[in-house]
Amino acid sequence: MTLASPITGLKGVGDELAKKLAVLGVKTVGDLIDNFPRRYEDYSNVIEIHELRPGGVTLEARISNVTGRYVRRGMHITEAIASDKTGSVRLVWFNQPYRAGAIKHGQPYFISGEYALRRGRFSIANPSVELVSDFPVNTARIIPIYKETKGIKSYQIRKLVREAIDVVKKMPEPLPQWLLDEQRLLDYRTAALEMHFPSGAEMLNKAQRRLGFEEVFRLTLAALLNKHELYKDKSVAIPFNEKLAKDFVAKLPFKLTDAQRKAVWKIYQDLDSTQPMNRLLEGDVGSGKTVVAAMASVMAMEQNFQVAFMAPTEILARQHADTLYRLLSNVDYGNHVGLLIGSLKPAQKKECHIRIASGQIRLMVGTHALISEHVNMHKLGLVIIDEQHRFGVEQRKKLQAKAGHMPHVLHMSATPIPRSIALTLYGELDISILDEMPPGRREIKTKICSPNSRAQLNKEIDKELERGRQMFVVCPLILDTEMSRGLSVEEVYKRISEKDFKHRRAALLHGKMRSVEKENIMQKFLDGQYDILVSTTVIEVGVDVPNASIMLIEGAERFGLAQIHQLRGRVGRGEHQSYCFLVLSDSKTPSQRLRALEHTTDGFKLAELDLELRGPGAIYGTMQHGALDLRVAKLADTKLIATARNAAQEFINRQETLRKYPHLAKKVAALRTITNLN
Ligand code: ADP
Ligand code: MG
Repeated sequence: MTLASPITGLKGVGDELAKKLAVLGVKTVGDLIDNFPRRYEDYSNVIEIHELRPGGVTLEARISNVTGRYVRRGMHITEAIASDKTGSVRLVWFNQPYRAGAIKHGQPYFISGEYALRRGRFSIANPSVELVSDFPVNTARIIPIYKETKGIKSYQIRKLVREAIDVVKKMPEPLPQWLLDEQRLLDYRTAALEMHFPSGAEMLNKAQRRLGFEEVFRLTLAALLNKHELYKDKSVAIPFNEKLAKDFVAKLPFKLTDAQRKAVWKIYQDLDSTQPMNRLLEGDVGSGKTVVAAMASVMAMEQNFQVAFMAPTEILARQHADTLYRLLSNVDYGNHVGLLIGSLKPAQKKECHIRIASGQIRLMVGTHALISEHVNMHKLGLVIIDEQHRFGVEQRKKLQAKAGHMPHVLHMSATPIPRSIALTLYGELDISILDEMPPGRREIKTKICSPNSRAQLNKEIDKELERGRQMFVVCPLILDTEMSRGLSVEEVYKRISEKDFKHRRAALLHGKMRSVEKENIMQKFLDGQYDILVSTTVIEVGVDVPNASIMLIEGAERFGLAQIHQLRGRVGRGEHQSYCFLVLSDSKTPSQRLRALEHTTDGFKLAELDLELRGPGAIYGTMQHGALDLRVAKLADTKLIATARNAAQEFINRQETLRKYPHLAKKVAALRTITNLN
């Protein structure tokens, strides 16, 4: 058995279980070992029965009087008595009829579970039990809890990892020895073993540090290597024209914010160099990224270079084209703006292609098709990517092949990620942050609502709709589940369209729809043909609907703060006073966490709060960054992150070569191909 062996090679793994494991991303023995626990429960303290106190406990005792019976249809109870020299206690298992047959009388067992008062009697319910040994797996130690999926429980995963333990003990070391020594890190085998079978809190801590360190180290190394490679490519220098920049700014109907000015200045410095720019412009919704993009574009256009501006959807591309046309017309470059999207008529498309090829169109706005289609951008100088996923090395290479040089690239993102974290996750990009909103923005009134007040809320909302305003309704689920009824788009749409607002025109939108369908509905909402749009979070990054003044979020407690903040940014884009209603799914008092939304409008602050209160998962939630998943590293552990990043830099400075470390090399290579803005 090796790391690459299929999981079905392990004892007890049939096709059925293998399928379920695959859902967790576990296909090989190596995947199983890499599938580190989500959290731990400490059952390491073995006590005697006379010391029992309510809570999680572990005993070393013998088990007797085991009986099983059905108390009613579908409800089986196994009861037993556990005894040591200090006393005895009742054990019960619900719906585990196999228990009675599995327990060996008179043998000493470790018994771990929750000791509590139930129906007037103290007992330990559903305890894990295993024969006393030097290496218990489910009891008498710090117990790992894995990410579980339907039909597969943590104890099953523990058993499998136990089966594979010899493979763990032969795991190769990915990191250089000098690094382990210098950082006083556990070796990989010990760390992996401790993650799955902690020998104690201190060792577990060291294991987490070691593995978290490696994750950030790898990520940073991949980013640095990508950066290094990018800088080997030559771009074209786009000289700074001060008069043009001043002219552009003078003709704006507003003053640039300091943050915008700083970002533009950085970008101008980047452009005026043959070293290709690869910069991320990060700024909350409404912080004014488009103006910055326009100012970057005009500098390139003035030199007869072409600019490709890519948006995630056709509607957004249209809106950007309009905005850019307006902004650039001020300085007489409006006629050089073109829109190239799939839904154009063939004749329009053809004309557009011709105008691009002739260089008359210098700023073309479109979707990703701009780089994949046969667009003849012979003088491509700058690429701007708005809220795009998957734009990395390969895409850049494609552009390079097209243009004959590496174009400058500017990424824009409205996901507010604190700088310290952005540096790690987006290591190969330089970062500019618009951390300041243009003045005079009307605040979106945000209110947390109990479901009991829905009737009153609906009345308030209807007054706005009566005035001709529109409303977004966002739901956390596509389908209802057993545990959460009435939170799915389907159900909410039904309630709204058949009951609460049946006199209004409502539409339904969710991620499972085809993108043409989605765009079509969105366009109709934009054109005012619907009053209400019920959707999942697919509208998160999206279109300007100036007439929409209400954002209603169902099951608000299920969302991260930063995510709600982004959703909220969908309204307040026009002249109307806008509202955000956060409806809770039960009438409990809202958490402090959500309260922050009522008085904070700073997306970065909210993201930091998320991080503090809910851990990095909260940030991931808004990013869906797939393979960048840091399983062990805590992004809030800024010290560890800084150390690991410095170590990656040191690896390069030492002129180390990955060839010497094949296991590290493989993992780094995989990270290099996934893209930064996921
Ligand atoms: P983002 O893309 O970052 O969400 P936009 O670029 O769409 O933001 O800008 C939002 C709105 O703010 C636009 O109407 C824009 O004209 C306006 N705006 C941009 N910068 C400023 C500024 N410095 N002062 C006032 N208004 C601004
Ligand atoms: Mg924008």
